[in-house]
Amino acid sequence: MNSTDTIFVAGHRGLVGSALVRLLNERGHTNILTRSRGELDLTNQHDVNSFFSEHKPAYVFMAAAKVGGILANNTYPADFLGKNLAIQTNVIDAAYRHGTRKFLFLGSSCIYPKFAEQPIRESSLLTAPLEPTNEWYAIAKIAGIKMCQAYRKQYGFNSISAMPTNLYGPGDNFDLQDSHVLPALIRKFHMAKQRGDAFVLVWGTGTPRREFLHVDDLADALLYLMEHYDSEEIINVGVGEDITIRELAELIREIIGYEGEIRFDTSKPDGTPRKLLDISRLSETGWRASIALRDGIRSTYDWYLDNVA
Ligand code: GDP
Repeated sequence: MNSTDTIFVAGHRGLVGSALVRLLNERGHTNILTRSRGELDLTNQHDVNSFFSEHKPAYVFMAAAKVGGILANNTYPADFLGKNLAIQTNVIDAAYRHGTRKFLFLGSSCIYPKFAEQPIRESSLLTAPLEPTNEWYAIAKIAGIKMCQAYRKQYGFNSISAMPTNLYGPGDNFDLQDSHVLPALIRKFHMAKQRGDAFVLVWGTGTPRREFLHVDDLADALLYLMEHYDSEEIINVGVGEDITIRELAELIREIIGYEGEIRFDTSKPDGTPRKLLDISRLSETGWRASIALRDGIRSTYDWYLDNVA
């Protein structure tokens, strides 16, 4: 990617898209294209085509999607499946039609089977049933991966697909209903500390294990893959280690300095028991994450204090 190439970051207001734009700016790219939802409705095929026809981006980072945590997925299955299928189909097809040189599609670790062997290798895709709480989103993402592979096979379209593990960082959604666990717990512990609550309720049993990647690390990996990875095979992006939800809660409690108790609300779902990604393929490319979880949570908490609290 040259510094003057036109680069379209779809979904630049989201957690991943905003991190990508920050990094592209930092690296001196001067031709970054972004469109808010109001300016360009990615579910509208005609509008997406016109946009690509006019701007002909050379590189596309496909970070636009309807996303959310375990409860949101369960509550809005039609949106998670339908909107994501529409958005990605429109963008992939328009990029191909209008000569995009390289396309990076973002998947998710939830595309893998619920009981996939751990750590999860890329080859376990479509080998067993999915986790039901997020299968709507997962099916859409799997279709996106397959679409990239199909366009590569049939048309020679240069598209790659990266599967990030659970992400967090500045710009995250801190809503208690719709967010993922890490921002939700930052908010819960912060509010409990302020109010002097005796305990914080953490959903589920606390035993599921999750791997967390800082979104600035992800953006760095995605730029690296755009330059160095060229294969129809999907590639996992993670840190290679995970912790239990209980350990995560304890770490966040300590960072925020909350002295009360942690209690578990077992009426809420646990979701998949574990989803640690195997990052051998990524390691072979020479990339690795550099932000430690403790440091990442601390800076994300600072961001939350400045921007949300
Ligand atoms: P998942 O990785 O797709 O399951 O999505 P989440 O990040 O939403 O949830 C991860 C795990 O954290 C699940 O076991 C949740 O039950 C648990 N969890 C604990 N407290 C919370 C919370 O306040 N919000 C969310 N979203 N999850 C929580």
